[in-house]
Amino acid sequence: MDNQTLRVNGQRLWSTLMQMAHIGALPHGGSRRLALSAEDKAGRDLLVSWCQQAGCTVTTDAIGNIFARRPGANPNLAAVATGSHLDTQPEGGKFDGVFGVLAGLEVIRTLNDAALETRAPIDLVVWTNEEGARFSPPLTGSGVFVGKYILEDVYSHPTADGTGTVKDDLARIGYLGNDTPGIRSLNCFIEAHIEQGPILETTGTHIGVVTQVQGIRWFEVLVTGQNAHAGTVPMTMRKDALVAAAQMIVALNALASGEDHATRLTIGALSVTPNSGSTIPGAVRFNIDLRHPSAATLSKLATALRQTAAQVARDRAVETTISEIMNVPPISFDPDILAVLRASTTTLGLTQQDILSGAGHDAMNIASRIPSAMIFIPCRGGVSHNESEYASPQDVTNGADVLLQALLRRAGAF
Ligand SMILES: [Zn+2]
Repeated sequence: MDNQTLRVNGQRLWSTLMQMAHIGALPHGGSRRLALSAEDKAGRDLLVSWCQQAGCTVTTDAIGNIFARRPGANPNLAAVATGSHLDTQPEGGKFDGVFGVLAGLEVIRTLNDAALETRAPIDLVVWTNEEGARFSPPLTGSGVFVGKYILEDVYSHPTADGTGTVKDDLARIGYLGNDTPGIRSLNCFIEAHIEQGPILETTGTHIGVVTQVQGIRWFEVLVTGQNAHAGTVPMTMRKDALVAAAQMIVALNALASGEDHATRLTIGALSVTPNSGSTIPGAVRFNIDLRHPSAATLSKLATALRQTAAQVARDRAVETTISEIMNVPPISFDPDILAVLRASTTTLGLTQQDILSGAGHDAMNIASRIPSAMIFIPCRGGVSHNESEYASPQDVTNGADVLLQALLRRAGAF
């Protein structure tokens, strides 16, 4: 059979996606599987059972990344890898991350059905804690894999609900593996994902070939004032950390809005201490998420946001410290893998366009060591990190077909 005519089973892929969405299902159609939670464990266990049924050998590394290998004819060749993440945001959808993992599984099942042996093995990878919603840093598993984060350091990070550390939680859910992260040699990594933005839907394009991922920097801002009685301290004599933080947030938003249209600055979490209705708040902690495709612009904005916060702190008689907790530089994907994706999309008769990723993805970490690229499919209204997130069965199938063709080209099919 001509391998270029091979197609995935779209119905099977769709039903697999819907089964996974049952784990941690939310009332409005989404899923909640926070990294290393009981729901994450259940999702991992289900995937591992599917991979084993598909004949894969499943191993876990010391940061909980899962590798399911479909053997190739030549075991000495580095594996051609695909995958994404199974963890979600607290109110996540059915597709973010999950699509890339289950599209990879569907490729393996399709190759099994066709009894097709590739020269190189195919690895399906689940990276630990892509979202960063339950503990920092996000993109933990892929970051440790490429040596960007130190394993022992990440192990000690506390998890948000006070149940322990990252290492405790890995052990508790049974995914504290033995393999040293990063020792596995991979030929390439191709990640399929929903776009999480509106561009493909707006242009009516089937497939986005992701050429670049914008850089992301996270800052933790601590504003320290003084706790005091709400009834006794005159307005002019307060050191109100929350008022200062509010003014900082407005000023930072204005700073970003005055930059070019590619700039993204978000403050999405804030904690107030002591958080009591009759006490002037003495401390506020919030995070700044800053994104841009240019490293130079990111540096300029990082300096400017520190100056902005310092100025507000002086005006409000409070102290402020800003620590950078994540710095992911902008990256460009591998030209050879991009060529494979373009050729695969053409083979399938699907429309395509080059696209920039606005969101961070594991592939951008992996790209620092291994030739990598990404496939985007449209999602309805560009909505993601939302229970209503939706990609159509046809788009899901198209994306998996591109992945199949690309993996076949790269892994070498007889
Ligand atoms: Zn994702």
